[in-house]
This record gives sequence, C-alpha cells and structure tokens, in this order.
Amino acid sequence: MTKLSDEAARRRTFAIISHPDAGKTTVTEKLLLFGGAIQVAGTVKGRKAAAHATSDWMEMEKERGISVTSSVMQFPYKDRVVNLLDTPGHADFSEDTYRVLTAVDSALMVIDVAKGVEERTIKLMEVCRLRDTPIMTFINKLDREGREPMELMDEVEDILKIRCAPITWPIGMGKRFKGVYHLYNESIHLFSASAGSKVSEGEIIQGLDSPRLDELFGDMAAELREEIELIQGASNPFDKDAYLRGELTPVFFGSAINNFGIRELLDDFVEHAPPPQPREAEQRAVEPNEEPLTGFVFKIQANMDPNHRDRIAFMRVCSGHFERGMKLKHVRIGKDVRIANAITFMASDRGNVEDAWPGDIIGLHNHGTIQIGDTFTEGEVLKFTGIPNFAPELFRRVVLRDPLRMKQLQKGIVQLCEEGASQLFRPLNTNDLIVGAVGMLQFDVVAHRLKAEYGVEARFEPVNVATARWVTCDDSKMLGDFRRKAAENLSEDVTGNLTYLAPNRVNLDLTRERWPDVRFMATREH
Ligand code: GDP
Repeated sequence: MTKLSDEAARRRTFAIISHPDAGKTTVTEKLLLFGGAIQVAGTVKGRKAAAHATSDWMEMEKERGISVTSSVMQFPYKDRVVNLLDTPGHADFSEDTYRVLTAVDSALMVIDVAKGVEERTIKLMEVCRLRDTPIMTFINKLDREGREPMELMDEVEDILKIRCAPITWPIGMGKRFKGVYHLYNESIHLFSASAGSKVSEGEIIQGLDSPRLDELFGDMAAELREEIELIQGASNPFDKDAYLRGELTPVFFGSAINNFGIRELLDDFVEHAPPPQPREAEQRAVEPNEEPLTGFVFKIQANMDPNHRDRIAFMRVCSGHFERGMKLKHVRIGKDVRIANAITFMASDRGNVEDAWPGDIIGLHNHGTIQIGDTFTEGEVLKFTGIPNFAPELFRRVVLRDPLRMKQLQKGIVQLCEEGASQLFRPLNTNDLIVGAVGMLQFDVVAHRLKAEYGVEARFEPVNVATARWVTCDDSKMLGDFRRKAAENLSEDVTGNLTYLAPNRVNLDLTRERWPDVRFMATREH
C-alpha cells in the first residue's frame, strides 16, 4: 500500500441528515467528544457562537434557533480520520444542504424515537438517493417514551424505501430504559444516565446467557432473550454490500444527550462506512488513489471570521495529496494558482493545512475568482459534475436606503450570492438588482448580513417575477434574436449566464412555445 492509498482508505467523510430537533447537534457533539476533539459537551454550539460573536446575523440565528452556517469538523478515531460536514438545519437552506451532500461518501440519519420519520428527513433522503449514498441510522432519545422499535423500522422501510438491519437493540425505553444489546458483538451495554460531558464507559455484559443479566434484570432477562431471538428471526441481517449500495441501513439505538449508544455507532461507522469513492467528471471518473491532486468546490462562505473579512471556498479533495504551497490549476479560468494558506477544519481549531488527502476538505481563500462547482487539478482539464444550482422560487428587488452606498451594496450582494443560498439577477434593460431565494428567510439573512458585514442598509421589495429559467440555445443567431426580442424579461446571473425571469407560469409556457429551439432549464450545473 502506498502512503496515498493508505491515507485515502482511512478517511470517512459524511454528513448528518435529520429533521430539526431530532438531535443532530447533540450527536455531532458526542461524536466529537469520542473523537477527543472537544473536552466538554456544550462546546459545539458555544464554538459557533464565539467565532461569530460580533455578527448580528449570528444573533439572528440564535434568536431563531436555527443554524444557517455549515462547517466541517475533522477528528481522528481509532486509526481513522473522520470528516463530518455539518448541514444547515433550516428548510430554507436546502440548496446548501444539497451541495454538502454531493461532497460526502455516506450519511448518518438521526431519527427521534417519538416522532419517527419526519418531513425534512424524507426530503434529505431523496437527495441521498440520487447518488445512492450509503446511510446509517441512529434512533435517538430512548431515554424518553417513544414508539415501538419494530414499528419505527417498518416506517423507515415504508416511507424511505430502504431496508433496515438493526445492529443494536434497545432494552426498554423511557424510564425503563436499561441499555442496548449489540446483535453482532453479543454484548449488552448498560444504560446509565450521565451528564454526558465525559466519555464514561458504563458496564458491559458479554453474552445474553450471562447470569449477571438475571441478577440485574430479574424476569426481564428472560423476556429480553425471547425478544432478541424474535428480532433476529424477523429483521434483515446486516449486509455490507447492500449498505454500500444504499439499499439497506444499519440501525442503532441510543440517547445522544446521555452519551449512550454513540460509541457503538461510531465503532461500526469507522469500520463499515465507505472511504472516499471515485468521482465523476465530464471527461472521466477520477479514482481517489490517483497521484495528481484533484478537487471540487461545493460551498463558499463569506466572512466566517468577521475580523478577517475572508471568503472561504470549501474544496473536497477527490484524489492525490495536497501539500501546503502547492500550485494548482483553476480549471474554469485556466490559470495556475499557488495555494499558500489553505485552511483545515480540525474540530478544535481552524489552522493552516500542511497535508490533505482524498476525502478531506480544505478551505481556500477566495478573492472572487472561485465559484461553487469549480474544479482544481495539477494541470489536467477536468470538470467534476453533479453540483447543481436550482432556480429560486421567490424574488425581491433590492432597494438601497442611502444611494451613495451603491458600490458597497453591489460588492456585498455579489459576495453573499456567491455563497449560493441566494442568487443575484441583473436585468438586461434596467439597473435593478434582483435577488432570488428558495425561502423567505434568505432575504432577512441577506439584509442582516449586508448591514453587519458591509455597512449597507437595504430593503427587499416585491417584484413581478414568479420563476426563473436558465436559457441556452445551440443556434447562436437564434439566441441573439431571443436576447433582443425577450430582453424585457432577461437578466444575467452572478456568473453572467442568461436567465429568463417570468412574471407567471403562463408567460413562461407561451415563451417556450414561441421559441421551441431555446432550452429553459430549472437547474444549472455549475
Ligand atoms: P437538532 O435540531 O437536530 O440539532 O437537535 P439538538 O441536538 O439541538 O436537540 C434538540 C433537543 O433535543 C435539545 O433540547 C436536546 O437537548 C434534546 N435531545 C437531544 N438528544 C436527546 C436525547 O437523547 N434524549 C432527550 N431526552 N433529549 C435529547
């Protein structure tokens, strides 16, 4: 094994998908705790807040109890290196989440034992399905009364169309919660409610026939033995290949807040979850073990550190070895750039990267030349695919309070729209700035951030646009005609692509009929 294939094989890059409140933040924190990346529980939220303490926008996030930022946390566990990509929690930021899910090799689904499969989990599963992303499942909050485990697994199978294979099984629930039985190690991990700020092991009993079980559980011991026999007969066995194909999900039970059941999950996760997978580019598929470095940008975030006013492009390494100071080709603009101060995301701190390997995420300082979807290589012309932009569904015109601050407004709005959660359109015929978003909350976020980060006060006014389509046409003369005749409804997006802004559906349909050779697309590949 070469150093490269060895390092690639050690990586586990994943994201957590869940409905808000199911326990994603708590699970994240406990994973970091086990990974030794943090010492005290409570630091995940604390860390986020401290890093942005001066930003009003984060105040808003706290007030609303949502997470609009997404970050990357790297931690070692056993001999593996885990990269956990955080996904924004609120439904309005689904595009951002979508793109994060293009950068992972697997996902962890967290489900609340009392609530079962919820609406946002369904949506996120649909996204995972597009790439057959392998999914592990953690059923959380067993310290509370919830639904029967069997019934929950049936629900997952019915609604999410994925087979369930229990790996651990809960013993009781709520006040009677005694622990979990690991169906494959045949060990019982006894539950003890803990504040959860330290990694306490708790008692482990080996084997269902251990007399210790009778001693502790009395009559419940016999019931448990029967139940386990029943479960083993009635449920799917773990099938690693089916898991890797995204057809079967291993299921774990526990209580994240009590730090319980997470160890079992993490142990099996690092063992079975896939290492970095080959990635499709327009030209060919790229294997992680190829020597030359390749990667793509799946996320951009402005002003992560308000003191530095930086814009960070998050690049997933797809192949090769990244070393500090390396020269990379920025394929879209065809230029070589030296990457002197890329950043890493070791959970404890943001620091400079010395090395990165396939599956790792590095942060590149972006001075406006990097866009979501950009590919970097050591010279080869490659373009990774599958990172789309969706047509927004809500539109507003930006109105400036102080007209003298137009320059700052333009700068701010362009930088914020580069992040991809909202999109900027400039009509061909007017000087308007139109922002499109998938959710109303986006406009509030943009307004807050314009003020906090760029010192610009702006309002958003209704505008007569109902939907947007990116337009292309193979016949450049016809496209020219279209550009002239439909100019009133045409604009350019932030990267200069032509878009048709339709006041309503009927208008869009009529325009399509009139111009059958022009293509109107609801998504655009970056
Ligand atoms: P997120 O919105 O998915 O990130 O969820 P959080 O991790 O913020 O958790 C939502 C709420 O559920 C918080 O009040 C947590 O304290 C609580 N919670 C998380 N895990 C557990 C658990 O295992 N048991 C109980 N009873 N509550 C939990």
